[in-house]
Amino acid sequence: MGAVQENVALRRKQQQLPLRPAGPLTVKSLLAWYEAERRDLPWRYGPRKAANPYRVWLSEIMLQQTTVKAVVPYFQKFVARWPTVTALAAAPLEEVLQQWAGLGYYSRARNLKACADAVVRDYGGEFPRAEAELLKLPGIGPYTAAAISAIAFGEKATPVDGNVERVVARLFAVRQPLPGSKPEIRRLAGTLTPQRRAGDFAQAMMDLGAEICTPKKPSCLVCPVQRDCSASAQNLAELLPLKAAKAARPSRHGIAFLVQREDGAVLLRQRPEAGLLGGMLEVPSTPWGDVLPARTEAMRSAPVKASWHLVTGTVVHVFTHFRLEITLYRAIVPLDTTLTLWAGQERCRWVQRRDLQGQALPSVMRKIIAHGLADN
Ligand code: SF4
Repeated sequence: MGAVQENVALRRKQQQLPLRPAGPLTVKSLLAWYEAERRDLPWRYGPRKAANPYRVWLSEIMLQQTTVKAVVPYFQKFVARWPTVTALAAAPLEEVLQQWAGLGYYSRARNLKACADAVVRDYGGEFPRAEAELLKLPGIGPYTAAAISAIAFGEKATPVDGNVERVVARLFAVRQPLPGSKPEIRRLAGTLTPQRRAGDFAQAMMDLGAEICTPKKPSCLVCPVQRDCSASAQNLAELLPLKAAKAARPSRHGIAFLVQREDGAVLLRQRPEAGLLGGMLEVPSTPWGDVLPARTEAMRSAPVKASWHLVTGTVVHVFTHFRLEITLYRAIVPLDTTLTLWAGQERCRWVQRRDLQGQALPSVMRKIIAHGLADN
């Protein structure tokens, strides 16, 4: 019999046993499974080994709101360029934003740099190990503080993200919908965290949520903690966790202006430091509002006087809190074109097409540029 079949046979046997409420034996089963099946990730160290705090912190910041698959190449690029927190602190912010471009949520990149600066300035280049100290650093919230404290330092801390929330809600068959059930789920997760190997336990829970206890069709048959799972025993696994109905995502509209010089260079502008996509580059546009501005009104925001051509179609981008729909105008202008007063001249720059890839351009702006340049 092969390993997978043996595993399935064992689980079948376990399914016939009475439910064993989640507790220390659940943790033991989970840690044994983690040692055998854990994901091989570039920021991980072997089980029972403390990890490098810089690599844990960097990976956790990158992993917020995105997937492991998207993060791996960025993580490798960052550690090759900046192998320590001290090296990252010494880098110019502009360069960090450039390397981050495409990973989204740019305030995280700004906080990443601010945090590296604070660790070097206030802690001599060593991350603090206590959750309470970590929480004082820029960009580190309760989840990340607990993850660093447990994984890098082995402290008894319980990071609870969406994956862990789902696993815990199922293990304990929590029927109260999210987000109202968050405090109770955090409390229940804390009851499982072991005194020793808290880091391995945290990563085992993350792996279980990502690989076995998935949002749809959880693989209960091969799950190492199936015997301890109340949702599985009650046939509720696919229904939990319950979620309260979400408010509809509002739409915003704007008109953007893609200006190309005769030599092919594209006009870009740096966004204000504070707010959405702060400090990143953009294609100049009208403010984004509830309704699409009329053409005459929009032209007051145009960065140059030119013969504008309406690009067919629109660019749609979905942010966490709203959906953005951009209408695009394009113009080709002479080399000696002067910018209008309202263009924000000091924040504008001309960038050659071949250099666009390396710029600190968020995904939405890359989409807008691609849409405009494809229109001939
Ligand atoms: Fe999730 Fe099923 Fe395992 Fe329960 S038995 S933790 S629902 S995969």
